[in-house]
Amino acid sequence: MILNGKVALVTGASRGIGKAIAIEFARQGADVIVNYIKDEQEASKAVDEIKNIGRKSIALKADVSDFNEVSKMFEKIKGEFGRLDILVNNAGITKDRSLKKMTQEEWNTVIETNLSSAYNVTKNALLLMQKNSRIIMISSIVGLYGNFGQTNYAASKAGIMGFTKSLAKELGRQGITVNAIAPGFIESEMTKKIGFLKKKILTYMIPLKRSGMPEDVANVAAFLASEKSGYITGQVINVNGGMYM
Ligand code: NAP
Repeated sequence: MILNGKVALVTGASRGIGKAIAIEFARQGADVIVNYIKDEQEASKAVDEIKNIGRKSIALKADVSDFNEVSKMFEKIKGEFGRLDILVNNAGITKDRSLKKMTQEEWNTVIETNLSSAYNVTKNALLLMQKNSRIIMISSIVGLYGNFGQTNYAASKAGIMGFTKSLAKELGRQGITVNAIAPGFIESEMTKKIGFLKKKILTYMIPLKRSGMPEDVANVAAFLASEKSGYITGQVINVNGGMYM
């Protein structure tokens, strides 16, 4: 167990990649706070799974794009756990449309949820973090290569890479590492919207010839959250089966 006794917050952990990370952290010995925005039922299922593993867990509802809601969530974390050792900024959304048709609301919501959230959550988390803590950002392959209909999403995920590299430089002295994971095509609610034919083409483009599972990302997150990754910081780790876009 590489995360024994640690306290972790995973944003957007009611399903998909975030949930897989939360469960893997618990298996590795961490107590896990499950953040979500809407789906209280799925969030409490995740909490139950973590408790069944034998770790402490609570679900906290907060919109990561809203600084005040996030601050209130951290008051509860402080009261319940007193500190935070691991932060995973995972919550994210898509609102795909070509730029010509994209509304300002579609642009702003994606940037605020995927990028401004990094400020909102990390700024609050640092108040509860001590030396040698871990910050993990979930970026995307789309932030590296771009994608048709995803100018908002690609800009937010490329922004996360710049945030990661800059914050790693600021926190290095304290032994706090900051790394990003850039997943490729991972099966989740988010990618359910992709049509059958496009999925076939995507899978063909992946050298490992399969889509990724949330657990593929969770295993890397657990390593980055552990002491074993202590000399890695400011990096973007691709978890994409070798895919190029
Ligand atoms: P998902 O299945 O759609 O899950 C999204 C999660 O984020 C849910 O738990 C949702 O909570 C939460 N969430 C959404 N907006 C939120 C907000 N404003 N505040 C707090 N929580 C919020 O997505 P996923 O595929 O697991 O993606 C997770 C992360 O990986 C995202 O950052 C995504 O961009 C990134 N990613 C995914 C892929 C992929 O292929 N799936 C590839 C690259 C990167 P509710 O359940 O309450 O709605």
